[in-house]
Amino acid sequence: MSRMFGFIVKTWNPVTGCLHDCYNGKCWASLICNRFKKKWGYDFSPRFHFERLNEKFKPNTLVFTVSMGDLFGWWVKPEWIEKILNKIKENPKTTFFLETKNPPRYWHFSIPKNTIKSTTIETNRNYKVSKAPSPLERYKAFKYLDGVKHVSIEPIMDFDHDVLLKWISEIEPWKVSIGYDNYNAKLPEPSIAKTKALIKDLKAIGIQVEIKNQFLKEVE
Ligand code: SF4
Repeated sequence: MSRMFGFIVKTWNPVTGCLHDCYNGKCWASLICNRFKKKWGYDFSPRFHFERLNEKFKPNTLVFTVSMGDLFGWWVKPEWIEKILNKIKENPKTTFFLETKNPPRYWHFSIPKNTIKSTTIETNRNYKVSKAPSPLERYKAFKYLDGVKHVSIEPIMDFDHDVLLKWISEIEPWKVSIGYDNYNAKLPEPSIAKTKALIKDLKAIGIQVEIKNQFLKEVE
C-alpha cells in the first residue's frame, strides 16, 4: 500500500500483512509494521485480528479497510474475507474503502454496496517490482467491476500516456490518486512534465484526481 489517501477518515485493520513484496522492500505498510512490531506484537506476516471484528463504526464516515496489508491477496483465507464483508454489510451507513493489488479476487465475493473498490495501477508497463498480478491483469479484472471505484497510481512509474489514459477511462473510477515514491525505492519514474500531462488529460475526461505531491499541484 501507499501512504494514506487524503479522503480517508478512519482505518480498520482486521487483517494485516502482505506477501506481494513490492518495491524492493520499500512498501510503506511493511516498513511501519516492522518498525512497530515489538510495540504491536506482530510483524508483516499475514494474520487475522479476530478481536477487531468488534470495532464500532460511525455513520457517514469513510473507513480504509486493511490499510496495512492486502485483504484480497491470494493467501488470505476466504472465511476471513467473508467475516469482514459481513461486518461491512452490518454497517450500511458507513462506507468502506477496499484496496488490493489482486483485483481478480474481487470477483470471488459478493462485495457490499457500501464500499469503494480500489486497485493500484502505477503504470501500464510490467516492471516486475511486485509479486502481485501485473498492471495489465489488474486493469482487465477491475475494468468490468461495477459500483464506485478508485485507482491508485502510486508510486507512479514510467508509463505510455495513451495506454494508461485509455485504461483509466475504461475503468471509469470515481477518483484516482497520483503520487511519486517517497521511500527511495529506485523505481523507474516518469518525468514530472509527463505526469502533469496525464493529470491534465484525466481531468479533461471528467475524472477527479487526488494529487499526493505538492510539486505536482500546479497543473495548467
Ligand atoms: S500490495 Fe501493498 S501492502 Fe502489499 S507489499 Fe505491496 S505495497 Fe505493501
